Amino acid sequence: MGDVTSQGDRAALAAAVRARVEYDRELGVLGYPQRPPAVAPPPAGASTSGPDPIRAVAATETDLFAAPGLARAGSLEAVRTELGDCTRCKLAGHRTQIVFGVGNPKARLVFVGEAPGRDEDLQGEPFVGRAGQLLTEIITRGMKLKRDDVYICNVIKCRPPENRNPEPDEVASCEPFLLRQLELIGPEVIVALGKFAVQTLLREKTPITKLRGRWYDYHGIRLMPTFHPAYLLRNPAEKRVVWEDIQKVMRVLGLPTPAR
Ligand code: URA
Repeated sequence: MGDVTSQGDRAALAAAVRARVEYDRELGVLGYPQRPPAVAPPPAGASTSGPDPIRAVAATETDLFAAPGLARAGSLEAVRTELGDCTRCKLAGHRTQIVFGVGNPKARLVFVGEAPGRDEDLQGEPFVGRAGQLLTEIITRGMKLKRDDVYICNVIKCRPPENRNPEPDEVASCEPFLLRQLELIGPEVIVALGKFAVQTLLREKTPITKLRGRWYDYHGIRLMPTFHPAYLLRNPAEKRVVWEDIQKVMRVLGLPTPAR
């Protein structure tokens, strides 16, 4: 399309856009891909304590036109049905089962990890191995919630071979499903667990050590990055900062925290 210069051109363009949006809405399209604005890394040496600003808006380039059935899916069950016996990426040939997500479909808090590991692949449930037990402790002993009160899922729904990092095409295939899950759950807070989940969701390459403990915005939902429980198993001294991050989440959710 050439330059739109005159008022008449602009009015015609606006009418064409309106007609297209109406048409898409009838098809069940609920959203449009967005360009991700850059997420400003925290200034060097910035403190991670103090007031928590919503630091940036992150957006995916999720193309809902590519999956109109997904845009129409009105419940988590419908999203699961739309996912089917997924062969959208090469992980299909390696998995035992798809690990969709578990928990309260109207949870106020969603934990998003990286991808299923061996235990999760075998059991079909996220975070059930050793790292999962630690996450469960954070939820139950730390936050005084039940696992069923929250929702738990991963960026990727199939186990990568040898637990390697998921690859970009695998993320691209899976992320629309995660996004629809999150839209339907409508949580107040997402806790992104570990470097991979945080950097993928925020479209960010800044190290997790700089990102964690601060609030971000993921499609209008507050997102708190923190270390992955598997990292905590290797570095137990870091449990203290994760507990600080989790308490920030608890305060936003109005959950009682230990007196400071
Ligand atoms: N690690 C993850 O990121 N997700 C799981 O479900 C299990 C381990």
